[in-house]
Amino acid sequence: MIQLPALPYGEGDLAPHIYAETLSFHYGKHHKAYVDNTNKLIEGTDLANASLEDIVRAAAGKPEKKGLFNNAAQVWNHNFYWQSLSPKGGGQPTGRLMDLINAAFGDFAKFKEELAKASVTQFGSGWAWLVLVDGKLRIEQTSNAETPITDPAKKPLLTIDVWEHAYYVDFRNRRPDYVNAVIDRLLNWDFAARNLG
Ligand code: MN
Repeated sequence: MIQLPALPYGEGDLAPHIYAETLSFHYGKHHKAYVDNTNKLIEGTDLANASLEDIVRAAAGKPEKKGLFNNAAQVWNHNFYWQSLSPKGGGQPTGRLMDLINAAFGDFAKFKEELAKASVTQFGSGWAWLVLVDGKLRIEQTSNAETPITDPAKKPLLTIDVWEHAYYVDFRNRRPDYVNAVIDRLLNWDFAARNLG
C-alpha cells in the first residue's frame, strides 16, 4: 500500500503563478487517483508491500503491467514535481550545482532556455527533467507517465509537469507562459541540490 504524501506547501501558496484551484484538482484529484489506482492494482499481489520505486521498476516495460506502470510512475512523478516547486522558488542555484549547469549548458540563461524549450516542445502529455547522468547534467523529456527512474544510470534533480491539467486552468493553452513562470518563480533549487547529494 502506498500513500499520497502531503503537499509541501498550502494549495494557495504557489499563487500568483499556479492558483489553488489547479492544486486542488491536480493534487487532490489527479495525483490522488493515481495513488488509489496503484493500490487497487497491487492489492493481493507480490507488490502489495513493495516501495513505490520498486513497483515502478517492476512494472516498467511489461505490456501486461502497463496500467500499473502508468499509475505508479505518475505517483512518483507527481511526488517529485510538488517538491520541485516552492513558493520561495526561482532564482539561481549556487555551488556545485551551478558549476555543473555552467559546464553542461554554458551559462544559467542558456540552461533556462533549454529547459523551457524541452518543456514547450514535449508533444502532448509528459514531463521535462533535469537529470544527472555520468556526472553531467542533461535535460530530458518523457511522454505520459514515463520517468527517468527506470534507468538506474539517471538521477533526476527537478521536473516540470507539462500535462495540460498542470496549467490549463491558470494559463489555458499558453504552455510557454506556465513553463516560464515555473522556471523563473517556482523551481526549488534547494531540492535539486539535495538530490545532487
Ligand atoms: Mn500532473
